[in-house]
Amino acid sequence: MRIVIIGGGAAGCACASLLAKTFKGRTSADRGAAEVLLFEKNEVLGGQATSIDIDAKQYGASFLNDGVQGGSPAFKHTFRQFRALGLEEKEVELKISFGHGRDGFWTNMFETPLTRTLKTDIKRFGTLLTWMRFIEPILGLLPIWIIMNLFRFSKDFGARMVYPLMALFLGTDPLMKLWEYDPNRLLGSVPKMYAFPELREFYRRWMRDLEEDDVQIYVNSSVSRIRYQTNGRIEVGYIHNDQQSTITVDQLVFACEPSSIIEILGDQASWMQRKILGNVPYFHDVSVTHTDVDYMRKYYHLDSDSVEDIAPDMPMSSKFDPMYFIHPVDDHPGKVEMSFDCTRYQPQFNSHTPVDRHIFQTIFLNKSEQELWTKDEINKDKILYEKWWWQLGHRWSHYARTVLFLASINGRRNTYYAGSWTLVNMHEMAIVSGIACAIRLGAEYPQDLNGDPSASKLLRLYMLLAHWRWK
Ligand SMILES: Cc1cc2nc3c(=O)[nH]c(=O)nc-3n(C[C@H](O)[C@H](O)[C@H](O)COP(=O)(O)OP(=O)(O)OC[C@H]3O[C@@H](n4cnc5c(N)ncnc54)[C@H](O)[C@@H]3O)c2cc1C
Repeated sequence: MRIVIIGGGAAGCACASLLAKTFKGRTSADRGAAEVLLFEKNEVLGGQATSIDIDAKQYGASFLNDGVQGGSPAFKHTFRQFRALGLEEKEVELKISFGHGRDGFWTNMFETPLTRTLKTDIKRFGTLLTWMRFIEPILGLLPIWIIMNLFRFSKDFGARMVYPLMALFLGTDPLMKLWEYDPNRLLGSVPKMYAFPELREFYRRWMRDLEEDDVQIYVNSSVSRIRYQTNGRIEVGYIHNDQQSTITVDQLVFACEPSSIIEILGDQASWMQRKILGNVPYFHDVSVTHTDVDYMRKYYHLDSDSVEDIAPDMPMSSKFDPMYFIHPVDDHPGKVEMSFDCTRYQPQFNSHTPVDRHIFQTIFLNKSEQELWTKDEINKDKILYEKWWWQLGHRWSHYARTVLFLASINGRRNTYYAGSWTLVNMHEMAIVSGIACAIRLGAEYPQDLNGDPSASKLLRLYMLLAHWRWK
């Protein structure tokens, strides 16, 4: 059996890896053999998970993960893969700083005037969360603003606290949720997060490992079209160094973005494929990596000194050193800009570095709304790097029209779909989706993960949703 995987991001690598490890050494004479081919249009694997070089003398580290930063303790498949390749995630405390000024600022570390003003809404929100556990399948399909209106929460509560939080998930699913609800300040805990190691190095090592497992890797190779043959096989056309070539395979896994899939399928796309894949909403976002501390201070509270006046009764024990910031855009409820303090978040830096020498990253969402952005206020001389991204929009229509129906095409015409876009835009989901496709193609779920209840539960839930299979 010859299997081709299109896309060498987390999903494609996970799929290729599990297939290759399962089938390694098997011949067609025993339990079947598989030849695994992985195509990636860039020159390296990793997809959206990338790192850049920075000046080690100036910043105290030679690299920075410039987009993907970390995950929650539920990222078992991702962490296992780090360890398998001799790397490790690092535990950090997710301290947040949302909004600005007396009327806008709140955090998960202590009460602020805003959380005191909105106490009634916060308490009622707790009741809603309890209910949501039971009626999540119905409420989960509704946009959050409808839920907020339906339950008559105040405009301020929605605009200043709930919408900004959606960017970080206030999950009700215990598997993926980050936060514990607190009846006084909405978020009561400082959850544990895990910062990723150097992603560029991780994917370099993964590529070597895949090659050792006999995966045939074609980088700089863009798949341009496929053709379904009447005998069930699939012809795959790709371009490498401006040269067009063709191979024929038995099974195909698309692990690239849905817009690419539709382009590759061209006139071969069925009505269902077109409907399900054509509906995935995405945005063009830009991230700016910079050292402009004045810009950061204008929109966010960065340290204890900056909140002294606002929260005079802040417990002396809580050093206010947040790493995750949200700026709700005035007069546009639901619109946010977000920033990270990379020096505090990423383990290669010394987090005790004075804040005016930190590296920050600010993300501006949705290019079509760029007139709302504060991007031009960042001092150009302090910008280290700017990068545009393709980002899945977590819209209700994505869940109602793509996620719910993906299983109806998954496996049809010997074609499977992986990628975080199949559920939620997270590195862990990308890996789980790749593993799920490999299992559909006969691979075996690793024993150690099988013995880990939260890892295997996540995989099972994903299999159920995206493949309508329990195993
Ligand atoms: C700015 C940013 C920050 C993020 N931060 C986090 C975070 O902190 N934590 C977290 O868990 N997640 C984060 N994510 C999400 C996470 O990065 C993604 O969910 C995950 O990396 C997606 O992996 P994937 O394999 O599904 O897709 P991708 O990484 O997009 O991989 C798809 C691959 O397919 C290739 N491809 C496309 N078309 C073709 C073709 N025709 N032929 C060959 N190859 C093709 C592409 O080049 C790409 O390499 C972030 C995302 C972004 C953009």
